[in-house]
Amino acid sequence: MPKLLAPKGTYDILPERAKCFRKIEALARQIFAEYGYGELSTPIFEYTELFQRGIGETTDIVEKEMFSFTDRGERSLTLRPEGTASIVRAYIEHNLAGSGGVGKYYYYGPMFRCEAPQAGRYRQFLQFGVETLGSSDPRVDAEIISLAVNFYRRLGIADLDVNLNSIGCPECRPAYRAKLIATLQPASEKLCRNCNSRLERNPLRLLDCKNPHCQEVTKKIPLITETLCPDCRDHFEVLLTLLDGIGITYRLNPHLVRGFDYYTKTVFEILAGDLGAQNALCGVGRYDGLVAECGGKPTPGMGFAAGVERLLMVLEARNLLPQVKGSPHLYLALLGEKAQQAICPQVIRLREAGFLVETDLLGRSLKAQMKAANKANAILTGVVGEDELTAGKIIIRQMEAGQQESIPLTDLEQYLKDFFRTTNISEK
Ligand code: AMP
Repeated sequence: MPKLLAPKGTYDILPERAKCFRKIEALARQIFAEYGYGELSTPIFEYTELFQRGIGETTDIVEKEMFSFTDRGERSLTLRPEGTASIVRAYIEHNLAGSGGVGKYYYYGPMFRCEAPQAGRYRQFLQFGVETLGSSDPRVDAEIISLAVNFYRRLGIADLDVNLNSIGCPECRPAYRAKLIATLQPASEKLCRNCNSRLERNPLRLLDCKNPHCQEVTKKIPLITETLCPDCRDHFEVLLTLLDGIGITYRLNPHLVRGFDYYTKTVFEILAGDLGAQNALCGVGRYDGLVAECGGKPTPGMGFAAGVERLLMVLEARNLLPQVKGSPHLYLALLGEKAQQAICPQVIRLREAGFLVETDLLGRSLKAQMKAANKANAILTGVVGEDELTAGKIIIRQMEAGQQESIPLTDLEQYLKDFFRTTNISEK
């Protein structure tokens, strides 16, 4: 029978690795709380129309990367390829604007894109991000950029390549777009097939094509930042001043446009050299037209999205993976069926009392069980054989100090409470 494997572009997270994922998630949730964001959890599939309208028909995601299927009622559904459109849908659906003020939401969960899998690019991947809805103040942009930068800094990644650009708004972008098409059209035979097909529909995307021939052509074209309207220019200038004040070093990258149609004004990406071709750790953008595009009242918005897998790759390359202690408080070595069965209820009780207790479930020899206790890095080991059981005792060994003593079985819970209160050993 052929081996059954996880689908292409997906992966399993094994328990040791899962601890790192949990650490990252905990830090993300902590920093989101510190910056005043509340969790908004949306379904992992939505009606396809949401992404067609929200992300844009001419984007790679909508054109060729969505996992779409038809439900029994013949409606087209899509596994969410990103988080922003769903947050905006929920914001409109629950009339969150009605509560007044600025809405600050975060999400954390799996996204799905049918891309060609490679290092740092999966078909199911984990993303987290924030969205601020209801304010067009550049302080929002500065706050979100700082949040992203500070998150990576707290994990020890200090040398961030922060790329920043403004791609204008519906006021100033059409003129730039027309200029771009007029400049690029005569050179179209030098452009790659992808760029040629985008030239009329989404010419801005040509600016970030990685093909060297296309780059040769696009490096000569006028910069969007030179054609911004006064409002976009002011917004960008204030943002740069704010970032300077906060102490964030950035690189102005006039070729940064990002893959979604909905962005206006600020776009931003943090790159990490260790990632190779898939070098973006996170991306952000302002999307002042998206809420209206999805059927809500015109509401400005700004957000960022970050990938967890790429972050782990960078942390791993730099030896910065979070150290996760998961040592059992107690490993119980039980000898013989009688002891195994008699102690089983106590194991459960100790766990209910909050102790991490491991025990052997294979009926192995004492030597094998002690080896397992060592491997698991247990802080204490308890041994109960038939003799101990008859005497109502347990032998407790402090693994690091090598000390051993025999205590009444009935005192075990109190012993653990006292031991972990009075020693410096971190409890979990
Ligand atoms: P995007 O939503 O395309 O702006 O991506 C935001 C971040 O999500 C990227 O910077 C990556 O860290 C991550 N990401 C996007 N697509 C993938 C993918 N296919 N596999 C893994 N991570 C991804």
